[in-house]
Order: sequence, then structure tokens, then C-alpha cells
Amino acid sequence: MNTMKSISLAILLLLTTSLTASCGGGGSSSNNDNSARTPPSRMSEKRTETPFSIVFESNVGLSRTVRINGTNIGLGPAFRHERPQLNDLSTNTSRTGIWFGSGTWSDPIGRDGSATAQRILSFIKSFQRQNDRENRQSGDLITVDFGVPKTVRFGRVSQNERNLIIRAIENLNSALPYRNRLRLGSELESLLSPEYIPEGEIHIHITNGKGNWFQEFHEDENDNPDRVLGIGGALANPDSGKPRILGGYALIDRGSVRRSVPTNDLYSTQMEFVITHELLHAYGIGAHADPNQYPSSILVPELRELLRSVPPLYTSLDGESLLAIHNISPGRDISSLTIQDLGPWEKNGFQLIGSIDDPRSSSMVVEFGATFRNGLSKPWAWGPRPNHSIRNNPELSGMDTATWNGSLIGYTRRGQTTSGDATITLNLENYSGQAFFDEIETWGVSVHPGSQGAGQRWQDGDLSYIIAVPNNGASERFVSVPDQKSDLGIVSGVFTGTLHTGATGIVEHPDLSAAFGAIR
Ligand SMILES: [Zn+2]
Repeated sequence: MNTMKSISLAILLLLTTSLTASCGGGGSSSNNDNSARTPPSRMSEKRTETPFSIVFESNVGLSRTVRINGTNIGLGPAFRHERPQLNDLSTNTSRTGIWFGSGTWSDPIGRDGSATAQRILSFIKSFQRQNDRENRQSGDLITVDFGVPKTVRFGRVSQNERNLIIRAIENLNSALPYRNRLRLGSELESLLSPEYIPEGEIHIHITNGKGNWFQEFHEDENDNPDRVLGIGGALANPDSGKPRILGGYALIDRGSVRRSVPTNDLYSTQMEFVITHELLHAYGIGAHADPNQYPSSILVPELRELLRSVPPLYTSLDGESLLAIHNISPGRDISSLTIQDLGPWEKNGFQLIGSIDDPRSSSMVVEFGATFRNGLSKPWAWGPRPNHSIRNNPELSGMDTATWNGSLIGYTRRGQTTSGDATITLNLENYSGQAFFDEIETWGVSVHPGSQGAGQRWQDGDLSYIIAVPNNGASERFVSVPDQKSDLGIVSGVFTGTLHTGATGIVEHPDLSAAFGAIR
């Protein structure tokens, strides 16, 4: 264990310094302008775009990683302290067997990710302090324009590493404004030097050793070669002192990551952490948080202890600060920022909850809801975990289809409360089906949903998605699959209750971010 400790202590996660003018915690006022260069068209033409062959993965960028906590399963900030209970909220009503609650709430010590403007500002400013300490980039960190939404592409990786990259993307997306969310692109054939990465792309490579990393990256020869687990950086166009992020890259040494943990079973968590960390650099956060003040940040420069899980950004100070940084105009010195630069900032969020009991057992089988805070909706879904796979549910054997009925609640892009009906239908032969939401109405901002028909119709009032249940065992979920018959957006959900009595999940549409819960 001592050996491991000393190795862990020595691990650094670096961002490359010689290549970028990145930094979203700020950018550096870097004198580097090679990133402004346009890649030769020859390089872009050579790339061939091949769509993903695995249908379930083509839209995962906006779905949510399934979380399991003891006997419960959920998506998003669904667990204790991450969201309120029904009786924490000021308004409770019941409608067609479903309890609805609404009101303002935040966890007193921020376990839901909520933070005051002062706390956010202190965190962001710690990037400058840490940058000075690391003494790798001279000058002041400045805020950036995050530019067009980026497509993440990666080179040849194992299936496990691919899943970890997807988890990292899902994690980052859950904390980003909808317009900035990352998409998943086609596989990369080769490693391009950063200046050739096309605008709008982030490239991730997981390599054996660092032999083929960019020439610009040099390790200190006196150091342990395993010291560096990965590097990441963003390319920025320093438009008149207001850098705009064009693209980014992350390189990770799988051997060093493997040797940084004592047993193989810790490899995946460690690798997911490194990918998430480097992806944040690639996205445009080009600096580290002060590890003394913020030891649990994903942006610490050095991993000091072994992790059991990667913290979700949507319940962390990292995530809330990432959101805040998007509100600050580009080109501002980090060290001169004041609370006013964050704009109107709320610590408490407006909360919506729906709760459904199983009529057979009278115990709660599904809870779902969403927080709206500082312009971002964070939907969640929760319930008791089923005992086995839905394919082995004795109650469903011999049936052709199963249907779950319930409700949807959430917010429009502007934060207006939204409610509607939810119906999940599943064909039990091929495990595909439909998620259908109708009678969707909107209410005011921070308003409890009223009785059906009394609100304003939202758009054409319904949303429909073709869904499927991927046969991948451990964390069973249903997800929307690309289909011409589906509306814009993404659905992801899980079944709850010992016998899959409940179905709950989230739907993310450009103008709607909501959770749904239903029972069969
Ligand atoms: Zn780093």
C-alpha cells in the first residue's frame, strides 16, 4: 500500500502548455497563436466520416449514466441530499394518483451542487493561484468564448474504455447549457497534431506509453515516466483578446493509469477520472483548481488518493462553476472578476417532484423531478432497483407488450414549469417501444403545475420517441434510438420496483428538460 501511495502521490495530470491558448477557468493571455491557424484542407478531406455502427451509442452524448446506490437506481441528481424530498417543498398536490411537489430548496452544505456566487468566484479564482504555482503558463488567465458545440472523436480503444469516454461525455453534458453540449462523432484513424484538429472537434487518444504523443510534449527525464497520466488542452482563436475555443485534444497513457492503481478493478474508475479531467481541459478549462482548498475537485493537478467513483459534475462545485463560467463575457481576467460578473446568481433552485406509489404494495415505486437553477434544468429519476433483468421478469413472460402510464414534469428553456402525460410502451419480443408524452402544458416560471387543461399548450403538445432496451446487463436502461419518427431530443430511463412496476427517466429536448415517471 505504501508503494501505491507514493506512486499516487507522484501522479500529475497536466495540460499541455506549449500548444494552446486555452483555459476556460480562463484562457491564458498566451502569446501562442499557432492555434489560430486553419488546418490545411488536405487534412480535412482525407478524413472519412463513418457513422457509429452501434445504434445505441449515436445519441448517448445527451443521455445519463445510470447510477446505483444500494438497493436504489437513478439518473441525474436523484439520491439523498442531491434533491429534496416531497415534504421539503412548500406546495404539494395530488392528481390521478401522482403526488406533485414544488418550491425552492437547496442542500444546506451544497451536496446538490448548489453554491453561492461568492463560493463560485473563490473556486474560479483559485485557478489563477494554482496556475501561478505551477508556473507553466505566464500571464493572467482569462475567460473564453466556448465557441461552437464540439464533437468528440476518439482513436482505437477497448469497449470498456469506450464506455468510460461516453460516461465522461455524459457527465460533462449534464452540467453544460444545452447549446454547448458535446456530441459523439466517428472513430479516428490517426493521431493528429493539435493544430490539424478540425474546428468543432475534440480528439481523445488512449495510448500504450507516450512514444507517439506530440513532439511538443516532453517529460522531465528525471521523473518517473508514469508521473503523467494524461494531457489535455484546447485550441483557441485569440480574437482581439477574446479567445474562442475551436477544438481540443486529450492524450492518456493507459499503462501509466493502470500502474497508478493497486488492482485491476480500480482501473476503470481511475481511467474515467483521467478522461473526465482531460476532457474538461479539451473543452476549454485550461487550468487547475487549487488542490489544497478544493481537494475533491475533478480539476486537481494531481491524484492524491484512490477513488471509488468519479463525482458527477451536476452535484459538484466543478459543475456549478463550469455553468457560471459560461455566463462571464470572454476576455476577462480571472483575478479581477467580481460577483457581478456572474450575473444574477441563485443558490436555491426551484424544484419539481412527482411521486407514484405502487397500488399493489402502497410503497413508493417511482420518484422523478427537476431543479431549475441559474438557467440550467437538472432532471432526475429514482426508484427501487429491480431484482433482475426485465428480460427475466416472470410477470412479463408470455406477454406481448407492457405499458407504463404516468406524468412528465420539467422546464422549458426559459424555466417555465412544464407538465404532461407520459406513456412508455415496450414490445417484449424485441425490447423496442415508444416513449410518448402528450397534453404537455407550460405554466409560469417558479410556478406549481395546475390541473390538466388549465395551462398553456407547449408547442404542438406532444413528443414521441422510439426507444429500446440495450442488452448489456449490469445497468439496464432504455434509451431513445435515432428514428425519423422521433422528435428532436433524447430520452433515457430505467425500470424500478422489484418487478419493473415503474419506468422513470428524463427527456431532453432543445426547449424542454424534464423527468417522467410511470407505472404499469
Ligand atoms: Zn490537468
